[in-house]
Amino acid sequence: MIKEATLIAGDGIGPEITKATLQVLDALGVKFDWDEQYGGMTAVEKAGTPLPNATLDSIKRTKLALKGPLTTPVGGGYRSVNVALRQEFDLYANVRPTKSIVPGGKFPNVDLVIIRENTEGLYVGLDFTFKIAGDRRALAQAMSIVTREGSDRIARFAFEYAKTHGRKKVTIVHKANILKATSGLFLESARFIAKEYEGVIASEDKIVDNTAMQLVIKPEQFDVIVTTNLFGDILSDEAAGLVGGLGLAPGANIGTRAAIFEAVHGSAPDIAGQGIANPTALMFAAAMMLDHVGELEAAGRLRRAVETVIVKDNVRTKDLGGSASTADFASAVARRA
Ligand code: NAD
Repeated sequence: MIKEATLIAGDGIGPEITKATLQVLDALGVKFDWDEQYGGMTAVEKAGTPLPNATLDSIKRTKLALKGPLTTPVGGGYRSVNVALRQEFDLYANVRPTKSIVPGGKFPNVDLVIIRENTEGLYVGLDFTFKIAGDRRALAQAMSIVTREGSDRIARFAFEYAKTHGRKKVTIVHKANILKATSGLFLESARFIAKEYEGVIASEDKIVDNTAMQLVIKPEQFDVIVTTNLFGDILSDEAAGLVGGLGLAPGANIGTRAAIFEAVHGSAPDIAGQGIANPTALMFAAAMMLDHVGELEAAGRLRRAVETVIVKDNVRTKDLGGSASTADFASAVARRA
């Protein structure tokens, strides 16, 4: 059955890496019925808003989207497209896999996935300043909201993800020693869910500061990490940095009403239009999308094709020290797919 999906090519290098990714999906023999929509600056130019209703309506219908990077308009009172999408579709799980691919890196054996709670914690927007005496900003306060329901569902998501992706262990990352109420509730919930998976998926818990250090000392000890919003935000960037950075990092935002797959990097205006962007991150995001719709074999083939091209064929874009153009790289992956 051909699945309908929304396609947002995005801004800057977005159209170039999207074209490359579609070429590879075609070579894999996977068919999506794409509904192409706009977002970001392209949408501002065409429809006067970075997130047109037509784009939202499309995702509401398809519940599935592949999204290129969007330039965030500076000023002008535009709301963040990513925040709007997160709220609209209750995208509670942010999934970021990190794997060593390029030979010669500092950490050759990293293969981990960070699953970050995406809707609660310190990012709920309850962030205020207060006036004392003459100082309008004498005191600031942020509120962190953690619910048992939200913690249970992200923990269950992480353990189910581990089960369906052949992973062995989930590390619950927290700061319950200090934040006894909020981080404590998260840890309690996640431990409770872990019990349901005893004998199937191993579990452990670690304090966030120790995790940050362990990641740069012995990252190969981690398999799946599940954590709250702020810790996940920081640790997932740290993890991407271990294996060569942005050009390789895909991300998925999974929710109750839709799933949106994207590259972690932005629209890279400095290299847009030059045909030299690395499309790997968006290709890996497409592989996650294939996993999500149950096309596991095709997803595996796509990942192996990209790795073979980078490692064996030595075809690499400039950011990885090579000289291949986006189009050369796409053709090489398509041949291996
Ligand atoms: P960026 O990720 O676009 O670029 C940072 C650096 O990495 C640049 O030097 C760029 O050339 C390089 N780079 C990024 N992706 C690359 C790729 N695929 N191949 C080769 N090199 C690559 O970050 P930025 O410059 O801070 O942001 C530019 C715009 O993107 C901003 O408007 C920002 O808000 C937006 N942004 C969007 C998203 C998203 O839509 N998910 C994420 C991050 C940033």
